[in-house]
Amino acid sequence: MPTPYHRPSHLIDLRSDTVTRPTKAMRRAMASAEVGDDVLGDDPTVHLLQHRVAELMGTQAALFVPSGSMANQLAIRSLCQSGDEIICHKDNHIIHYETGAPASLSGVMIQPVDGPRGQWTADQLPELIRADNAHHPRSRLVVLENTHNRGGGSVWDIDKVAAIAKAARGANLHMHLDGARLWNACIASGRKPSEYAKHFDTISCCFSKGLGAPVGSALCGSHQVITLAHRFRKMFGGAMRQSGVLAAAALHALDHHYDRLETDHAHAKVLCTGLSELTGITLALPVATNMVFVDVSPALGTASDFAARLKALGVLTLPSGPQRLRLVTHLDVTRDDIDSTISAFGRITARHQPGIRRAAEPKAASRRTAAQRSR
Ligand SMILES: *Cc1c(COP(=O)(O)O)cnc(C)c1O
Repeated sequence: MPTPYHRPSHLIDLRSDTVTRPTKAMRRAMASAEVGDDVLGDDPTVHLLQHRVAELMGTQAALFVPSGSMANQLAIRSLCQSGDEIICHKDNHIIHYETGAPASLSGVMIQPVDGPRGQWTADQLPELIRADNAHHPRSRLVVLENTHNRGGGSVWDIDKVAAIAKAARGANLHMHLDGARLWNACIASGRKPSEYAKHFDTISCCFSKGLGAPVGSALCGSHQVITLAHRFRKMFGGAMRQSGVLAAAALHALDHHYDRLETDHAHAKVLCTGLSELTGITLALPVATNMVFVDVSPALGTASDFAARLKALGVLTLPSGPQRLRLVTHLDVTRDDIDSTISAFGRITARHQPGIRRAAEPKAASRRTAAQRSR
């Protein structure tokens, strides 16, 4: 018997933590923001945000930019020369999701490193660094990603970061942190952003993911590197005028949405437990923060087929491999939404494997109750 399923009255969007919509309170903060022309340097709210973020990271300066990709690319452009080489994990965002920008905008190469869940260790570094002679690209920059997106939202252990930073500095390399989800890493590890940031020359961070702002990221670092990045921001077309309206949303997000990231992590754990009980669904990566990656058995079709069936039941997910689905929890996902999602998965797995019983019927019953309550 298929599990009864109560379609939620709204779409449950688990494709990404970027899908959040600004809350009423955030919109009020935006509407009442004091603004000026930031290209001329006189938007007070942008200044406020930049100070606040620099303080959080323990850096001399910060620069507000339109996107995380731009923050990363400004770091690369500011720290590297054309012909240089970056060392980073083969699954990093800058390799897969920034449209080849390191090559296009900065003329640099990337040497990809392997390791579990987007991470690697300091003892891998020596053999990745090029000998200093006229044949080779110049090893210039190490980029780490925390949390690691394709690594399942994995959190870097601070001692591993410190060890890589020490080895990199010893070899005259710069360090950049792609911290689009650094906030999640901090909530999960109990570390302050500055504890991670101190190991890097530049740090990017994002306000439009888990923190729920509509737009915006920041690049943090020394006065010297941020002065350079400020120039390249203009060159890349990222200098904005009355951007205080957006900075106000980011400030509101830092004030009101930082601590609650814990809830997203708890929701991801519930989701992971519920989904792994279903026949044909296996957890692809350990859940560390707000991301859940599951593999769908080929008996249930491809990940895209499965995502289409989920969509018909009101649940949006992101296929991220032939059999892999990504689900990300965020500000706009409630505990009831999590229960409804598990029950939507259960309905599909039961329907498409009529001969196979679901693993945990008693739990399914309690989830049904929760889903009914949510209506
Ligand atoms: C989302 C993300 C970025 C930046 O993405 P934008 O869409 O350009 O803001 C950078 N790095 C990682 C790891 C991300 O997940």
